[in-house]
Amino acid sequence: MIKTLFGRALNLRTTLMVSFLTIVLVVVLFTLYIVQQATFTHSTGLLKTNAETSSRVINDYIRDVANVLQSSATNLAADFSVKGLILSADTQAQSLTLGMRNFADRFGAEEFAVIDSQGKVLSTSKGFTSIKSVDVERLAVDGITWAEIDDNIFLAKSVAVKNTPRSRDAMAWLIFAKPIAGLINDDLTRLTTMDVSLLRETQNSFTYLASSYHSAIQKEFSNVLMSESNDLQDAYLSSDHYVYFVSALGSTQSATILLMLSTVESNAYLSYNSLLGRLIGLLVVVAIVTLMAAMLISNSITKPILMLIGLTEKIRQGLHVNQFPEEGAAEVNKLSNAISSMQSAIVKREHEIERLAFYDSVTSLPNRNRFIQLLEEQITLYPSNMFAVVLIDIARFKEINDTIGHSTGDKLLALVGERLRSGCRDNIFIARLGGNEFAVIDTEDGNVEQLMEELASMFSGAFNINSLSLNINVSIGGARYNNHGTQPSELMQAADIALHASKDSHKPYVLYHEELNTFSVLRLRLMSELKEALNQGQLTLYYQPKMALANDKVHSVECLIRWIHPDHGFISPDEFIPLAEQTGAIRYVTSWALRQAAQQYAQWRSVGMDIAMAVNISAVDLTDLSLPHTVSALLSEFTMPPDKLILEVTESAVMGDPEVAINALNMLSRMGIKLSIDDFGTGFSSMAQLKKMPVDEIKIDKAFVLELATNEEDQVMVKTLIALAKNLGLSTVAEGVENEDSVVLLRNMGCSTAQGFHLSRPLPAKDITPWLEAHSDIR
Ligand code: C2E
Ligand code: CA
Ligand code: CA
Repeated sequence: MIKTLFGRALNLRTTLMVSFLTIVLVVVLFTLYIVQQATFTHSTGLLKTNAETSSRVINDYIRDVANVLQSSATNLAADFSVKGLILSADTQAQSLTLGMRNFADRFGAEEFAVIDSQGKVLSTSKGFTSIKSVDVERLAVDGITWAEIDDNIFLAKSVAVKNTPRSRDAMAWLIFAKPIAGLINDDLTRLTTMDVSLLRETQNSFTYLASSYHSAIQKEFSNVLMSESNDLQDAYLSSDHYVYFVSALGSTQSATILLMLSTVESNAYLSYNSLLGRLIGLLVVVAIVTLMAAMLISNSITKPILMLIGLTEKIRQGLHVNQFPEEGAAEVNKLSNAISSMQSAIVKREHEIERLAFYDSVTSLPNRNRFIQLLEEQITLYPSNMFAVVLIDIARFKEINDTIGHSTGDKLLALVGERLRSGCRDNIFIARLGGNEFAVIDTEDGNVEQLMEELASMFSGAFNINSLSLNINVSIGGARYNNHGTQPSELMQAADIALHASKDSHKPYVLYHEELNTFSVLRLRLMSELKEALNQGQLTLYYQPKMALANDKVHSVECLIRWIHPDHGFISPDEFIPLAEQTGAIRYVTSWALRQAAQQYAQWRSVGMDIAMAVNISAVDLTDLSLPHTVSALLSEFTMPPDKLILEVTESAVMGDPEVAINALNMLSRMGIKLSIDDFGTGFSSMAQLKKMPVDEIKIDKAFVLELATNEEDQVMVKTLIALAKNLGLSTVAEGVENEDSVVLLRNMGCSTAQGFHLSRPLPAKDITPWLEAHSDIR
């Protein structure tokens, strides 16, 4: 309805108020107008009726006075004593005047006159002494008759005095009169409730004869042009506004007598005005009450709306609002409910966004973002509290994933997440950083090693997925705030270095220490030095015999690389081989090792020993298409029969990309080279894939062999692996044989070959030669 005021948009409350006020004002003014009209008409009617009635009353009253005068005169005229006095008037004039005075006083006539039939004045009262000619017959007519004598006007009646009642002619006339001024008295005024005035009018000139007004008002009125009318008339005089009513009251011989009833307008409408006043008062009260009601109503409507506006503002600021206005109009309730459910929807969406942004969908664990965030919060909130940051990496997860399928791989990750969560105390925060990497923060404890120990123990049991039982290895690295870093990035880097140390050293877990970092820098430097080191002869091959368990004879040795660095001394292949694989330097290592092995073969053959050489090659070498060519060139260079070269490839290398591996192995196999699967039992090769491989031997991983004599589980595993190999027509090598008991067990299990410290440690060629001579059946 009203939405703008002076071009400005109004708020709901003002709109309601202005609307209400407008309605109330219109109703009030309309009512006032109607009432005013009605009461005015009514009052005017009343006043007019009053004036008419009053004028009739006055008329009747004066007529009554006239009648009294007339009837009294008539009675007197019939009186003989009066006739006698008239007849003796010439002589007894004084007696006549006395008698008349007496009679006049009796019926209240101030003035009198006795006139004979010739018009001669016989006797008069004092006021009538100047009376000369009077039209006695005009005064004899019934009703109100006026006589004007010396500018004075009298109500006058005349009666003929006759000799006998039947006489035609009058012998004399009796006149009785009352001055007009005496006719108007207080009783009369009170009776009419109006002011009464009698006026003489001749040719629109007015003279006041008698009036309840004082002379000043009379004077004002004398300028008003009056005429007889049936209606009320208005006179706007300088003193006031008057309403008056004029009627004729007979006439004198020369003028008309008018009766004027008048009143001050405000008096006449006094009751109407006070009524109107009260009405206005009432309407003002109604207006105020309505306005207050309007305020209450608009408040009751706008208050919850304003409150809701306040709430939406809070929601906009991201605050959570619990209390919504409960009672209100249905629409307000609806709006309130709508805002409430909107808030829930927003909260839900925010949670969803947060979940997507901060949670990993596979494990439902917090993700890297959340992890870093928590790390930052922890450092900001408790800068002096020590706490542990640990990284966990599932070993060879890519291979596991490729073997069991990605969806099963995801299930495995979920299970790992569950196991971590159920195994850790509540205050420990667990996240999945991505891929196969998990992270753990113990915000209440800086004992990193104990935490890592606990975490490592959680992975000792197998994971069961779709009736598949999976054993997984993990690498664990940890760092402590604030010993190993004060920033999230520093802590993460430290834990990461420790994690790699765990991976490289095959230790279940490693706590970061300064040397690891320098060592990792060192390792990188080493890689750049490796190629040069090969040329400079810093690397040598050590040889470890593989002994046939059937006859304790040695037909082959495994070639194991050793790096004696001029500055750092002995560097384990476990340390630099993975790095060389990563940097691609492994190619030089492999071709160097192959050449060394071929040379050594030729060397031993020259002294009559025909020892097959087992050389380790990596997964990277299998993708090198020039490898078969390099090998065949070496074989012909040293006239080495291909079956005297055994290439050891780890099970995981083969399973990383089975197709490429099978192609490469097929080529080498066709050349007559023997192939061996290293570290067997730790990977995930399936029987079906193994069947496709052109391999000759499997090497049971030393993890199952080292404690074979004492560990029954290992015995079952080794037995199974041997049976499996036999089934496929493959020979078996057990590595890591450290005692005679194991040798006996392995022999009984039908294992073909044994290798380990119990027989010999890997040794340089010149040191192993005597041992070989002793165990060789060549000579
Ligand atoms: P691998 O191929 O499994 O080699 C066997 C490892 O077991 C050798 O460690 C060997 O010294 C060790 N070993 C042998 N008998 C026993 C025993 O009775 N007890 C114990 N505890 N250990 C035993 P090494 O020489 O340190 O070599 C480590 C790994 O480095 C090798 O594992 C192999 O994967 C790699 N590697 C060594 N030389 C070369 C190489 O020339 N080329 C490539 N690509 N890898 C190599
Ligand atoms: Ca090996
Ligand atoms: Ca091995």
